[in-house]
This record gives sequence, structure tokens and C-alpha cells, in this order.
Amino acid sequence: MNVTIDPRSGFCWGVVRTVQIAEETLENSPPGSVYVLGNIIHNPREIERLAAKGLKTLRSREEIASLPPGAKVLIRAHGEPPETYRLARQHRVEIIDATCPVVTKLQERVRKFYDLGYQIVIFGKRNHAEVVGVRGVCNDECIVVERLEDALEMVDVRKKTVLFSQTTMDRPTFLRLRDVLKSRIEELIVEEMGTIATEFHAKDTICGQVSGREDDLRRFARQHDVVIFVAGKDSSNGKVLFDVARSENPRTYFIEDVSELQSEWLEGAESVGITGATSTPQWYMQQVRQEILRRVATASTMP
Ligand code: SF4
Repeated sequence: MNVTIDPRSGFCWGVVRTVQIAEETLENSPPGSVYVLGNIIHNPREIERLAAKGLKTLRSREEIASLPPGAKVLIRAHGEPPETYRLARQHRVEIIDATCPVVTKLQERVRKFYDLGYQIVIFGKRNHAEVVGVRGVCNDECIVVERLEDALEMVDVRKKTVLFSQTTMDRPTFLRLRDVLKSRIEELIVEEMGTIATEFHAKDTICGQVSGREDDLRRFARQHDVVIFVAGKDSSNGKVLFDVARSENPRTYFIEDVSELQSEWLEGAESVGITGATSTPQWYMQQVRQEILRRVATASTMP
């Protein structure tokens, strides 16, 4: 059996950057002094690896107030609202800002249109960490929609409006939402992220690290009898990319942990492809590959 890891899978550059900043901070700080606000990425194995190096996870920003002197708090790729920075300043806690530059840019754009008095519509999940940060920069005066139906109910079509997307949403739904709003709102801006166009599609704020992978992922899914999709269950882009792969190959299975692999999924398959979200480490997909090969070898020696 051929077992191949998708060459385009693995961490996106924003996550690589965040993990690098975390590792450098851990190396250059007294033991026990480095914290991250929320899980550093949506991948339990990588969280465990960094925790073993001393990274501690805070569950809420309020915990900043009770950190010991000299503590450092890392902001992960999703970014944070201004309130977090204010709290850190108030309690003299050092912030290590590892917000993905793509998210920083999105926050800056939202702030700009908020200041200009636009109605801000964000296609995203209201309580996703990235959206919480974005809501913070516009004082929570925005409309977050996850479905087209919500948009029709919630958006005031008489107002000048700007439409953004959480960076990891699915593009086809975003485009439908754009068209629905365009047909109803006289002044609608679909925000361009011109200065970092390589990371964004020209007309939306969905990260190219997610949507740019879709065509390759479809091809990869078609090329294999079975696809194992490895991602944290909380990963937003994991859900989007898994759906893309499964729409091409119904024998696509989602696992977070290697123990969830089921041998019957592999039955009769000559080729298995392993792929994942932008937060799935390559080293973990290698472990999944080893486990698949071990199971195949065990099955072939059974009478
Ligand atoms: S998916 Fe895009 S926006 Fe999100 S961390 Fe990666 S590079 Fe940044």
C-alpha cells in the first residue's frame, strides 16, 4: 500500500511564525514565566509538545491580573481585542505578540472602516478567537453572520456597509453572501487586502493559506483511495478543508488523534493520502503514516 503525506499540508506560515516565537521566548525566559492566552494552536499534540517545554496556557484574559511579576503572555496567531493589551499594561505584564500579520491587517482594516462610520459585517463565527479580537477593535459594533439567512435578518440594507470575512471561512459561501448583499445594498464595499494580496484573494479577507489549498486538496483527495484528514476538532480551517476533501472522495476520514484510526477504513485501499489543517504538524502526520503502515503490515501477517 502506498501511504503519502500531502506535500501542501502542515503548518501555514502564520502558525510556523507563532510556534517559532513561542520557542524563542521559552528559550530566553526564566522557567515557568511564559504563558499563552488560549490554546496556542488547535492541535492537542503540538500543545502538549510546547507544554513539555514549559509553556503554560491561560484560559481567560482575566487571569492576567493574577500572574506573578516577570510573567510574559504570548498572543497567539488569532490575535486579541484591545482589552487584553490594556489589562496587560495595567498589571505590568509583558506581551509577546505573535498575532498572524494577516489577522493584524484584518483588524486594522476593520478599525479603519469603523472610524469612517460604516456598518461592519463579518462572515465568521461569533465566538471564534479571531472574531472576538476583530469585534474588540470595533467596540463590538458589528454584525457577525455565519449563514446567508442571518445576513438577511440582521443587516440594515439602508446603511453604507463593508463586508469582511474571518480568515478561515469557506470562500463559496462568502461569495454567495457578497452577492446577496450586493443586490440589496447601494453602498457595499467588499474589503480588499491590497497590500498583502499574495496572502488574500483580491476581493476578500479569507487567508490564501486556506482557500489557496483547495484546488490542490481536491486533486490530492481524488488521487487516493482513502484520505485521512488530521486536525484538531476545534480547527475552523480543518472543518473547511475536510469538507473540501470529502466532497471529492467520500472515503475521507477525520481524526484528531492517531488512536481514532479504524483499520476497516483501509480495507481494499491501494493508496492512502494523509493531509490536515494549517495547524496540523508534519511530525504528527508522520506518526499517523507509521501507524497506518504498522496496521497494514500486521494485517498482512495474519492467517
Ligand atoms: S491560516 Fe492564514 S491567517 Fe490563519 S494563521 Fe495561517 S497564515 Fe495566518
